[in-house]
Formats: sequence, C-alpha cells, structure tokens
Amino acid sequence: MKIPATINTYCPKCNKHTPHKVKELRKGTRRTLSFGQQKFLRATKGYTSKKAGQVRKVKQSQKQTLMLECTVCKKRHPKGMPHAKKRIEIKKKE
Ligand SMILES: [Zn+2]
Repeated sequence: MKIPATINTYCPKCNKHTPHKVKELRKGTRRTLSFGQQKFLRATKGYTSKKAGQVRKVKQSQKQTLMLECTVCKKRHPKGMPHAKKRIEIKKKE
C-alpha cells in the first residue's frame, strides 16, 4: 500500500481539513516491570513465547497505524489502516 508523504485531512484541533505529515507508527519496546508484562512472562515461562496448551495461529495480514501531524497546529493523531499483507510505503517527495 503506497501513501503520499502529506495528505489533506480533518484536524480535530483546527476543526477543519488541513495538510498533514504522514509517519508510520511502530510499536516500541515493552516495559519489563509493568504488571501485565510480568503476568505474561510468568504465563509463558518454560514454553517458548506460547502459553501452555495453546495453538498459535499465524496471521496472514496485519493492521498498521499511521501517525498524522497537522502542519498548522502540530497536533498529532493516529489513523488506523485496514488489513494489508504488505507494509505501508510512504512516497518520498521529489
Ligand atoms: Zn491542526
């Protein structure tokens, strides 16, 4: 899926359509001491990244998220994208 580097879309702060910069949002690293991560590590201990007795399905496509930044007020807000097999490609300016 190819996406232009700037798109004209609605900004909730300006309350109108403005040009936005497009950036791909990627997941960061997990905090190892957070409660949910500790629970997950306890549950998967001894079974390589799987819970005991669970069959893991391999998903064919992933949902990706874009981060849009308003060029007028600099407000950033995410935009969810539909399922896609390929990674999102952001077109470079020429
Ligand atoms: Zn704005």
